[in-house]
Amino acid sequence: MTMNSIPAPMWTEATHAVQSANRLLLVTHVEPDGDAIGSMLGLGLALRALGKTVDVAVDGGVPSYLRYIPGSDTVLEKLKTGAWDVMISLDSSDEARTGDCGAYGRANSPVVINLDHHQSNTGFGHIHLVNAAAVSATEVVQDWLPYLGQPLTPDIATALMTGLVTDTIGFRVSSVQPRTLLLAAALMQAGAPMYDIIQRTLNSKDFRDIQLWQQALPSVTLQDGVISGVVRVADWKAVGMDDTTDSGLVGYLITTDEARVAVVYKEKVSGEVEVSLRSKPGYDVSTVAFELGGGGHKQASGATVPGPVDEAIARVAPLLLAIANPQ
Ligand code: AMP
Ligand code: MN
Ligand code: MN
Repeated sequence: MTMNSIPAPMWTEATHAVQSANRLLLVTHVEPDGDAIGSMLGLGLALRALGKTVDVAVDGGVPSYLRYIPGSDTVLEKLKTGAWDVMISLDSSDEARTGDCGAYGRANSPVVINLDHHQSNTGFGHIHLVNAAAVSATEVVQDWLPYLGQPLTPDIATALMTGLVTDTIGFRVSSVQPRTLLLAAALMQAGAPMYDIIQRTLNSKDFRDIQLWQQALPSVTLQDGVISGVVRVADWKAVGMDDTTDSGLVGYLITTDEARVAVVYKEKVSGEVEVSLRSKPGYDVSTVAFELGGGGHKQASGATVPGPVDEAIARVAPLLLAIANPQ
């Protein structure tokens, strides 16, 4: 796979495909974040308001902290039956990221619309709404609504604001433009409670998250601009968690002044290692994620690599040192 040049969004084709469809399926990426759920539900609510029959699905369902988003209770965590006229994939750079729900949907939908904002999007599907300059998939959805003739409602705006706020970490990333704030203003005007959304997503941690950081912080090292940490299965089990996570530690590590690149290696029960990457503007970690079979953005990307942890570190660390210390 190579980095591809991305064609302009096919708004007209996508709008026609949706208008002539009755049954639609919306899917997003596994281990969904605020943008995944926000873009899927924002579009789902809009299409329902237009009179369409819409199924929304993601493996495992909606994480509990995002269940305030209207329509969360309609999200299916598994697909066993059903056929659709159109499937729409949101916030997923490739087909594998859409998991079992995406695979089932593709096999039972003749048309696939690929709506995304990842530079690393592989161009899968029949109709592309991919804008790599968009800060979030919800931005792409918000741009599509006028073509569909669907105004913002308070519920749609709440869903879309969730993706805008979480993927920009509260408007703090370098990709934020004047238009980002105009989009946010429109969502607020339409009734999205921005402060509440920020509190629930960015400013919320469970005490177990803090305890996980206590477990992981002793592993943190800084070398030549690369700060790294490790979370082992024993760490999250010790604090009573039931899944692989760093509780946002990588986002904290990249705030270190001396660091240009941050990485957290997260051991999975399967023995594989999830690698979470962050960087300061001017340093692009997505190339490393891509090389490792993952994807993401210049400043936030990731991949899952074979274990054990020490072998993953031996493979990944030199690649990150090269990014942080260009010749
Ligand atoms: P994370 O560090 O897990 O928060 O991931 C940061 C970003 O990297 C995500 O928003 C995705 O865009 C991307 N990403 C993470 N893991 C993968 C993966 N296995 N494949 C493709 N993209 C990924
Ligand atoms: Mn996402
Ligand atoms: Mn996104």
